[in-house]
Amino acid sequence: MSAAPAAAAPILELEGVHKSYDLGRGAVHALRGVDLRIHAGEWIAIMGPSGAGKTTLLEILGCLSRPSAGHYRLRGRAVDALTGDELAHVRGDQIGFVFQSFNLLPRLSAEENVALPLVYRRRPRRERGERAREALARVGLEARAGHRPAELSGGERQRVAIARALVNRPALLLADEPTGNLDSATSEEILALLRALHAEGHTVVLVTHDAAIGERAGRLVTIRDGRIESDRPRRTES
Ligand code: ADP
Repeated sequence: MSAAPAAAAPILELEGVHKSYDLGRGAVHALRGVDLRIHAGEWIAIMGPSGAGKTTLLEILGCLSRPSAGHYRLRGRAVDALTGDELAHVRGDQIGFVFQSFNLLPRLSAEENVALPLVYRRRPRRERGERAREALARVGLEARAGHRPAELSGGERQRVAIARALVNRPALLLADEPTGNLDSATSEEILALLRALHAEGHTVVLVTHDAAIGERAGRLVTIRDGRIESDRPRRTES
């Protein structure tokens, strides 16, 4: 065996990241110099008031948008300089996204929705079906594989969305208010599922308004006015 790799190398590193939107009447500075390092296996909640820059930060982490200035490395690779196509490729390969509004395609079954990222990666049909069913089983929904989103409850739809996020075995699972559209009992179920995925080794970063979720994350990052206000480890729930 070769020498042990630097175990502490972060999978994701932001350095001096700024993001501004030019609206013609003057720029909006959504992020104003963010430094953040995330290691494999972390479970991080991002909190902050509305307009603080949480979604903008998550979009940059998820390669949905690029910093206006600063550096972003994902598994050591500089992604801030990539073209739109290259960025989409990295995103498809490395990132699983879960949204507040599920973002499922209504005409597709649960299994077809989950398999969609594999269609984009041109995986053969049989492999797509197998992996989609495996991901649905992981979220406890194998019996609903043939159902369309309208035939599922809110919690089940979010489970399908989580299965879709997992199907490419991403380095990073990002969730933007994943319980924002769910009642409190269903939110608990979704949170329990995300915690179980973290316990299996997934790296999970979620944006939330819910202080109870923030308290239970392994690390809580708060942002305000486009800057990190605090960044501290939490005691994880026993
Ligand atoms: P949060 O998720 O914390 O509510 P956002 O990241 O959505 O905050 O927004 C941060 C700031 O950037 C806000 O002032 C918002 O209005 C602005 N903003 C976000 N996205 C855009 C956009 N696409 N165009 C212009 N301004 C935007």
